[in-house]
Amino acid sequence: MPLIGATMKLNELNKIIEPFSSTEKMPVLFLGHGSPMNAIEENEFVQGFRDISTEIEMPKAILCISAHWETKGTLVTAMENPPTIHDFGGFPKALFDVQYPALGSPELAKATQEMIKSTDVQLDDKWGLDHGAWSVIKHMYPKADVPVIQMSLDYSKDAQHHYELAKELTNLRERGVLIVGSGNMVHNLRLVDWGRLDEQYGHDWAIEANEKMKELIMAGNHQELIDYKNQGKAFQMSIPTPEHYLPLLYILALKDESDDIALFNDQLVAGAITMTSVKIGGN
Ligand code: ZN
Repeated sequence: MPLIGATMKLNELNKIIEPFSSTEKMPVLFLGHGSPMNAIEENEFVQGFRDISTEIEMPKAILCISAHWETKGTLVTAMENPPTIHDFGGFPKALFDVQYPALGSPELAKATQEMIKSTDVQLDDKWGLDHGAWSVIKHMYPKADVPVIQMSLDYSKDAQHHYELAKELTNLRERGVLIVGSGNMVHNLRLVDWGRLDEQYGHDWAIEANEKMKELIMAGNHQELIDYKNQGKAFQMSIPTPEHYLPLLYILALKDESDDIALFNDQLVAGAITMTSVKIGGN
């Protein structure tokens, strides 16, 4: 009986994700988003986002885990037309004027909900696309012709939980869904030099953390990255709060043994932020 139940469940799931059938295995991306101004500025980082999109087969949809959506429990956006959220203050009007009219995908939201067994995932109709999502995705897909859903970060859970949860998304890679984690590996806003946001340099501890993070990523040493709190002072200063770092763990968790790893936009800005981004697979 339980076996039949499981089979039926699987058939239902297959029906839901039917539009997402694909043979190519999609890469997964961690994108360092940095200042919201990157959404409307022209610089090497946005060129990096553009370049990476040309290396990827056109996705059927995007699932984005953004640093800027933290909730109690795990939610996925399930509306047809996610609004563009301007979740920041003190920036020019031109940034508030940006609209990114990508469609949502209630089907993908439902499939994601069904796919995750370790925790209850709720369908959300109140969020939309925050700047962690649209400020980077708009450079990759300027026509907004790929549906986008977001999955929230449960602030009550630890890093290990997020890493394990991410593994449950792995089937989406074979369904033409591009999974994007958007944050910044090194992100300490208290120590950012706000007057020098356009300048590329890092404090010593930020450089040290960036180098060590890259080393661990390339070596596949995920456990030390999950245990980021115990990696010394440079990590502690680079990750004062976890929300910009956790999207990286989602992406690492989705790495298969056969996947290549490529780093890009590997720069420090304003002393205390790294734009370092990671592409896993797809080569
Ligand atoms: Zn941010």
